[in-house]
Amino acid sequence: MTLLDGKQTSLDIQAEIAEKVEQLTAKGFKRPHLAAILVGNDGASQTYVGSKVKACERVGFESTLITLDGETTEEQLLAEVEKLNTNDEIDGFIVQLPLPKHIDDQKVIEAVNPLKDVDGFHPSNVGKMALNLPCFLPATPYGILQLLERYKVETSGKHCVVIGRSHIVGSPMSILMGRNAYPGNCTVTLTHSRTKDLPALTREADILVVALGRAEFVTADMVKEGAVVIDVGITRVPDETKKRGYRIAGDVLFDEVAAKSSFITPVPGGVGPMTIASLIMNTLLAAEGKSALNG
Ligand code: NAD
Repeated sequence: MTLLDGKQTSLDIQAEIAEKVEQLTAKGFKRPHLAAILVGNDGASQTYVGSKVKACERVGFESTLITLDGETTEEQLLAEVEKLNTNDEIDGFIVQLPLPKHIDDQKVIEAVNPLKDVDGFHPSNVGKMALNLPCFLPATPYGILQLLERYKVETSGKHCVVIGRSHIVGSPMSILMGRNAYPGNCTVTLTHSRTKDLPALTREADILVVALGRAEFVTADMVKEGAVVIDVGITRVPDETKKRGYRIAGDVLFDEVAAKSSFITPVPGGVGPMTIASLIMNTLLAAEGKSALNG
């Protein structure tokens, strides 16, 4: 079994990007600049945004964090988005999801300038991804592709089963693994909460991508011997033995599934850090004025 070490791979990518930033600035170009908007004070969202801003600093980017209180109206948020759309100093930006209930996520996503949409959520980028055209890929699926590529995991002709059909992970992952490219060229099965006899399908998977958000849901009996297992899940599970009162669990019961896998991502230290690396890669591409090439 080989551990797909997202933490180390993310640091490797960040070191490569830091070098590119130095080359850019040596030639007189400005540093890439990522902005993030955070609305409200959700603990997990604050942690995610904090990690993104720290990663920007590590690679030599400029970063701007805009924090708005939970009472911010949709109109006020849309006005902030428009300011970033038209601010030439900002190369790319994200609006951290989920937003408070009184704000329509989709309306905000659609308000972001697609050329600055480094999260890859705008319908224009999603459509281009589906057509295999240059675009910003959504950060988590892009990070998974990077991990598969850097560990030279064979994907062509393999059966990839994806659990979960969210717009940010499962659905784009199923599109990307089915495209005519590397990583890709898989035969893909996209499963979700209405899927019948899920274990029968997962046992057929050469590559299993798990993104449903239920701690330790996938057990060894659901996995084929030698499978590649990508665990996207991040769930806080109460744990009295930890100072903070919880531990982070993935969607896969790691120890028993790892024993059957050829490659597996740990949680934490797998897909999570790769999501951050992807965001940084997308921001560099935005700054360079070209979109991610994914063909
Ligand atoms: P979501 O909550 O939006 O959707 C969950 C999906 O799982 C749905 O499509 C649903 O149909 C499916 N599902 C639910 N129960 C199921 C079942 N019993 N069998 C099959 N399918 C089932 O999911 P999301 O936003 O993609 O997040 C999934 C997990 O990934 C969460 O734990 C989230 O925290 C984590 N996540 C991690 C990263 C990262 O960077 N590592 C990024 C995004 C999300």
